[in-house]
Amino acid sequence: MINGIDSQMTSSFAKMGIDRRHFLKAMAAAGVLTLLPSNDAKAFSSKAKGKIVVVGGGAAGISMAARLQRWLDEPDITLIDPSDRQFYQPGFTLIASGVYTPDEVWKEQKNCIPKGVKWVKDSVKAIDPVMNQVSTNKNGSLSYDFLVLTPGLQINNIEGITRETLGEGNAHTIYDFEGAQKTWKAMQEFVRKGGRGIFTDTFTKHKCGGAPKKICLLTEHQARKQKKRENLQLDFFTASKQLYDVPLYTPRLLEIYKERNIPINLLTRVKGIDTLSKTVHFEKIETVGEEKRYTPFTESYDFLHFTPPMTAPDFTRESSLCNTDDMSEPQAWITVDKHTMVHTKYSNIVSLGDCANMPTSKTSAAIRKQVPLAAKNLISLMEGKEPVEKYNGYAACPIVTDYGHVLLCEFDYDKKQDSTFPFSLLDVSKEQWAAWLLKVYILKPLYFYGMLNGRA
Ligand SMILES: Cc1cc2nc3c(=O)[nH]c(=O)nc-3n(C[C@H](O)[C@H](O)[C@H](O)COP(=O)(O)OP(=O)(O)OC[C@H]3O[C@@H](n4cnc5c(N)ncnc54)[C@H](O)[C@@H]3O)c2cc1C
Repeated sequence: MINGIDSQMTSSFAKMGIDRRHFLKAMAAAGVLTLLPSNDAKAFSSKAKGKIVVVGGGAAGISMAARLQRWLDEPDITLIDPSDRQFYQPGFTLIASGVYTPDEVWKEQKNCIPKGVKWVKDSVKAIDPVMNQVSTNKNGSLSYDFLVLTPGLQINNIEGITRETLGEGNAHTIYDFEGAQKTWKAMQEFVRKGGRGIFTDTFTKHKCGGAPKKICLLTEHQARKQKKRENLQLDFFTASKQLYDVPLYTPRLLEIYKERNIPINLLTRVKGIDTLSKTVHFEKIETVGEEKRYTPFTESYDFLHFTPPMTAPDFTRESSLCNTDDMSEPQAWITVDKHTMVHTKYSNIVSLGDCANMPTSKTSAAIRKQVPLAAKNLISLMEGKEPVEKYNGYAACPIVTDYGHVLLCEFDYDKKQDSTFPFSLLDVSKEQWAAWLLKVYILKPLYFYGMLNGRA
């Protein structure tokens, strides 16, 4: 097993008081250890040449750079990213529920940049896909032969609250590192004091569609653990027409919400938050015949977890790389072929991860599957060949249903079950303890030491 993963897991077990030997036995029985990366170094290689620029060094960008660096005999890769830190964002939910400490979910970006890749620590402000040029804020323009677009997504404001005012009026979101830390403090106080908790998602596509549901269920379980559940009224509001749209998992998820007495309000969209009066402004969206009707209403809360609207970064829209450059259109994402991840207009560009318009969940689990295929397709383009690798839309969302259980949802473009975590002996349509162990102890080291190294 790769050193970093082994030592991370060992220290996690020690901290949590779990016996390492028993844990590994349980995971081996579940088949999970077969997922861990190996040192198979160069299973594939190419003599293709060309100057590659990668824009954005998060889950997708670093993993792509690492793969390409390994697979090309003479790599020439420049990665542009302004961040000091690399965050394991799925850990934000676990910070917000007190399972992880904040320092457990990040590493210094300089230690994540693959060896041999040139790092330009800057932000891209525009791309000229016709002239093959990228303009940065401080480092002028860079030219490329091939471009990998992985700048993630942009989190936008809801009226009444900004990133700077997060936490005011007890309105919180875990879609932010600081926000996740504030959520954990506020959740504990809410459980102590009681009152009404409102949990919302949003009308745009957003990262990890499961995250708003997870924090709601964890708050409920935290209250039960503290024997305070009867003091809390909890409500979930979703902009969608159903709570979850993957048939294998939806029935159990609905059952859990019912068992926990958390009403689900469908087709309700957050319009704004009044943090002074602790009120959420919603509108109910109904379709009557051909017509859509919007009915405004308000709800008061004591504790609020909201999901901000999200879009592709502005500069990608302004560079005509999305399906629309209309800045008021929220559902604009970088247009790629959903199987090859090659841009629909510019065949020397691939894009993947949160910024791209593949019709699947925006998760790092999806990126883990996208990266090797997108990297091989890019290399084919560099070799003057057709890209033939096809992504099937695989995404995974481990929905944490309580402290100790996870409903591990894995599916493809057709919303059909696509299990890659080999829990062969378990009923995956139900929440499982083994999936909780996977979520809490394995996925993070797999991210930092496997995926980001181009090995998993
Ligand atoms: C609360 C929460 C819970 C989640 N839970 C899960 C989960 O359980 N399972 C799961 O698989 N996924 C989960 N995710 C989703 C997952 O973290 C994301 O899908 C993934 O991180 C996206 O990777 P990315 O590379 O596309 O974008 P990111 O990782 O966000 O990286 C984007 C990078 O681009 C850089 N960048 C941005 N703009 C520019 C610019 N102009 N120029 C240059 N660089 C730029 C940024 O600095 C950043 O480094 C969760 C996310 C959140 C927030």
